[in-house]
Amino acid sequence: MKLTGIRSIEDLAKDGGLANKRVFIRVDYNVPLDKKTGAITDDARIRESLPTLKVAVDAGAKVILASHLGRPKPGKKEGLSLEPAGARLAELTGYEVHLTDDCIGDGPKKVIHDLRAGQICLLENLRFYEEEEKDDENFARQLAELTDIYVDDAFGAAHRAHASVHALPRMIRDRAAGLLMLKELRSLARLLDRPEKPYVAVLGGAKVSDKIAVVESLLNVVDTLCIGGAMANTFLAAQGKKVAASKIEDDKLPLARTILQKARDRGASVLLPVDVVVAKSLDAESGTAVSVDAIPDGTMALDIGPKTVELFGSAIERAKTVFWNGPMGLFESKPFSNGTFEIARIMSRAEGFTVVGGGDSAAAVRAAGDDIAKGMDHISTGGGAALELIEGRKLPGVEALRSSVGEEAS
Ligand code: ADP
Ligand code: MG
Repeated sequence: MKLTGIRSIEDLAKDGGLANKRVFIRVDYNVPLDKKTGAITDDARIRESLPTLKVAVDAGAKVILASHLGRPKPGKKEGLSLEPAGARLAELTGYEVHLTDDCIGDGPKKVIHDLRAGQICLLENLRFYEEEEKDDENFARQLAELTDIYVDDAFGAAHRAHASVHALPRMIRDRAAGLLMLKELRSLARLLDRPEKPYVAVLGGAKVSDKIAVVESLLNVVDTLCIGGAMANTFLAAQGKKVAASKIEDDKLPLARTILQKARDRGASVLLPVDVVVAKSLDAESGTAVSVDAIPDGTMALDIGPKTVELFGSAIERAKTVFWNGPMGLFESKPFSNGTFEIARIMSRAEGFTVVGGGDSAAAVRAAGDDIAKGMDHISTGGGAALELIEGRKLPGVEALRSSVGEEAS
């Protein structure tokens, strides 16, 4: 992936380029909320937007922030206002943040008109209009009316062809990527364009079916693929192991065999668990490590065992490049978190260039501890977007930033 034709917000900020200009920054404030209280449970995405915001504020821009939040049904806005995100942003930065009651129309126009250089407003949830997800040109044009300059810092939304990240940037000549977007793209590019070898990928998570395309493309580039988590059960079963009550995808057994064969053909080695932590139920208070050749009847594999941690760990330690997606077990539950946290710890201390992608994987790394998260070279803020890049796909939100697109730009 090349970043040719993509300018950065810092390029635009040179020579007073943002001073007193209306600068629309598409951020990803789609933060997880507590179901009962509506409080933000993880503000990483807001914190990650601060470097770009600072560039704009320091450059004297009139800053217009916009984001989607959740999946509001038509006419239903309850609990999905960006108000808490605005409040958290104000708390984190000390800036005053004006929340508009809508994202298009006279309300935001008035607020933006009254903004002074260095002031910030946050538009209400873009997805309160279904036109956002439909990439609607008219809706995009109404957003375009609000601004002079467009900046996209919402990597987490870059794999969607939605109005605010796809139709809109094409309408605005002065467009650029934010610092978070660039950091994401540069880090992930190191996995795509001749990654330093040995390249080790660690995959886990819930299902093989979610990850087929990722596995297929990784097989073309990696030296070693470590497979853990629930998806490993299907591979173990495909090799004829008795996995007892473990969750497997019966219909994916042939696919698992095909993947193992393809790996052999391409000279990539696939490491599967040699031991697993089993229990009789998902809410068990403890688990037992057993060999994958001796999984007791009535039990299910809920984590990788210590020998597997060592096996995967030594591959990670020897690697020059490591990509990890998908927890190694049911890490949300303490008795089954060890495998995931140990892999996180080993990776954070490894010499190679280390990248974590995937919503649950990123949460797991943060849950493993601050110093572990800091030890990673990159933790992607965009699960789906990162995986689509790894699959070798182009992201609509990234392509729309290139200077070569949008002949219709004024
Ligand atoms: P990501 O969001 O990082 O792409 P996934 O969504 O694919 O990851 O998978 C995350 C989920 O997989 C977690 O909720 C975790 O509990 C679950 N999981 C992983 N391994 C197991 C297992 N052995 N048994 C049950 N659930 C598992
Ligand atoms: Mg997930």
